[in-house]
Amino acid sequence: MTDFTYDLGEDGIAVITWNVPNRSMNVMSREGFAELDAHVDAALADAAVKGVVITSGKDSFAGGMDLNIIAKMRDEAGDEPARGLFEGIMQIHAILRKIERAGMDPKTLKGGKPIAAALPGTALGIGLEIPLACHRIFAADNPKAKIGLPEIMVGIFPGAGGTTRLVRKLGAMGASPFLLEGKLSDPKKAKSAGLIDEVADDPVAAAKAWVLQATDADLVKPWDRKGYRMPGGAPYTPDGFMTFLGASAMVNGRTQGVYPAARALLSAVYEGALVPFDTALKIEARWFTNVLMNPSSSAMIRSLFVNKEALEKGANRPDVPDQKVRKVGVLGAGMMGAGIALVSAQAGIEVVLVDQSREAAEKGRAYTADHVEKGVKRGKTTPEKGEAMLARITATDGYAALSGCDLIVEAVFEDMGVKAEVTKKAEAAAPEAVFATNTSTLPITDLAKASERPADFIGIHFFSPVEKMMLVEIIKGRETGERAVAKALDFVRQIRKTPIVVNDARFFYANRCIIPYINEGIRMVKEGVAPALVENAARLVGMPLGPLQLTDETSIDLGVKIATATKAAMGDAYPNEAVDEVLFWMAGEGRLGRKANAGFYAYDESGRRQGIWTGLAAKYPPAAEQPDLQEVQHRLLFAQVLEAVRAFEDGVLEDIREGDVGAILGWGFAPWSGGPFSWLDMLGAPYAAERADALAAAHGERFACPALLRQMADKGQSFYRRFGDGAAAVAA
Ligand code: NAD
Repeated sequence: MTDFTYDLGEDGIAVITWNVPNRSMNVMSREGFAELDAHVDAALADAAVKGVVITSGKDSFAGGMDLNIIAKMRDEAGDEPARGLFEGIMQIHAILRKIERAGMDPKTLKGGKPIAAALPGTALGIGLEIPLACHRIFAADNPKAKIGLPEIMVGIFPGAGGTTRLVRKLGAMGASPFLLEGKLSDPKKAKSAGLIDEVADDPVAAAKAWVLQATDADLVKPWDRKGYRMPGGAPYTPDGFMTFLGASAMVNGRTQGVYPAARALLSAVYEGALVPFDTALKIEARWFTNVLMNPSSSAMIRSLFVNKEALEKGANRPDVPDQKVRKVGVLGAGMMGAGIALVSAQAGIEVVLVDQSREAAEKGRAYTADHVEKGVKRGKTTPEKGEAMLARITATDGYAALSGCDLIVEAVFEDMGVKAEVTKKAEAAAPEAVFATNTSTLPITDLAKASERPADFIGIHFFSPVEKMMLVEIIKGRETGERAVAKALDFVRQIRKTPIVVNDARFFYANRCIIPYINEGIRMVKEGVAPALVENAARLVGMPLGPLQLTDETSIDLGVKIATATKAAMGDAYPNEAVDEVLFWMAGEGRLGRKANAGFYAYDESGRRQGIWTGLAAKYPPAAEQPDLQEVQHRLLFAQVLEAVRAFEDGVLEDIREGDVGAILGWGFAPWSGGPFSWLDMLGAPYAAERADALAAAHGERFACPALLRQMADKGQSFYRRFGDGAAAVAA
């Protein structure tokens, strides 16, 4: 396999073209690095070569590094994984530094060969770090292209010199949105930010023209010159000091200190700024190794990159022919239906949006019109594309229009009777379609009783707001067949979301785990734990919202509704009376949450959240003695992860990879941990079981250690070693 080709033209320019076979986008592998290195050596050694252009044979430059490389470097180093990683990273630095120095005399800085990068489109991660080592970067005028360093999003940071080079190029302040937030830009914006040098119609031609006229001075990077000063000031200058002080506070404020990558990045930048460039690269490599050795980074890469992608590509798809959706019927044009219509039309699928009245259906369609209008204003889409998207949605009150639909997604009221009625009507109108329900609480198997074809009946559970939330939970009823599962998965793939496939049980997977989190928070308030402690403990362990804030956001009356229904279903076994006491009292006080401008928190007239509502302390005064932070955090996290283990044990969840990816994307479970199962692996099964026992003894049976976890503790097993390939618990 050849990832890079080398072609010396008559003009004396060697063009190195990156074109990884059988992939739509270039991804850097170890073999790829070796090939690039050999081509650079050949160009520098050949007197006939005047200069080099590095480009791509695809419509993009590169999507990044194959993150499996990292695992390989670590594994191959046996007992010394950190050394293996550090040396592997230093080899990459050496290749890129060779490009940057391009054969010039290190003293006179003369005699190098110009090397330019020509980017036809998207250039991410290593796809930008290589160009940053070149002497000049040309990008095609392609507004869809994305240029940037998104590493921080999967729990690492740019570790192939991108951090050190960008900071020296733009200054710490200028580089911070790209490094710390993983900000991506189109070519024009990338040029004005100083990320790249030129935007050209034909970047290869422009790069060649530049190479032919480049002088010795054009090849020397500012940081390789004597007297170089970092833009914005080095850390020990007054300006630089302010930058680093601010950046440090910002990073810790945003990450609550739980993301090792952001902190390590900042350290690499700070320490690197104090020393010469080559030493800075070494420091970058050390911090990068430090991050890669942190279990949080491996877990984040595994869940947010490797397994997320595997699920999106159909890791758990039954082997049935392509089920791509052409025409979807959406029943109910309320909050969820309108969102489902929007994302479907966006994916190019024809949509029939049905509601009880024409007006209600039109209102749902208007949601897309609104979205399009905003998109056009922000330059995210063109008026023509927006029009075409809107034209794909037909709003109606007649079921006949569903004829020809190959998928129906139902999002009418959460009511068995109403859902049964629309199921019958829709199935009659679209006899070929797979029928999916977006119910959040009703059993799929029960709803399927209204269907003539229960094998074609399935749950497709979206989260709100549909256009923003990336997870879709697909739920199999007892009789759901393979075609329906494949249809649901292919649909989710079309609308570019991440699916998990679970079995039918109360609250499916996501809600089953998030409800105990909320309940534990409320229960603590009743016990006299200070609400601020509960909320801060959650945030400090990486939950996006504390349980009380989350309750305010989703509304207290929804909580009351769910509690009432659950109690009716469970009878005497219902375990949440203590929670309900608080919840029902709040509802009685009219404190229904954010929508009422009154909940566990106080809100000002404009709806801005203030502190915890003082009335809460009057009813539930905080105890004189408060628990320690870790105890509160463990209560909040164990409430979720033990439920995840039970869901896996029960066979509701069939694959821990889905359990982890679903938890992060579905309810924001502490992303730094890689998900509930990854977190339990970090703790180690013996310690996790011991903590569950202690929590159960102190707080109740809801923390009882699941049999599977106990067994794993006894045998010293980990979830990922035992089930990481997608194996089900029941089969083990
Ligand atoms: P909603 O009240 O906003 O919308 C329901 C819509 O269905 C209304 O427009 C109503 O007119 C329409 N409808 C009712 N009966 C109908 C009929 N016989 N034929 C056609 N249309 C009919 O509700 P929603 O929040 O969009 O929820 C819809 C479904 O999605 C529910 O099953 C809910 O449990 C589920 N769900 C909601 C959320 C959420 O956060 N709101 C999340 C996931 C799933």
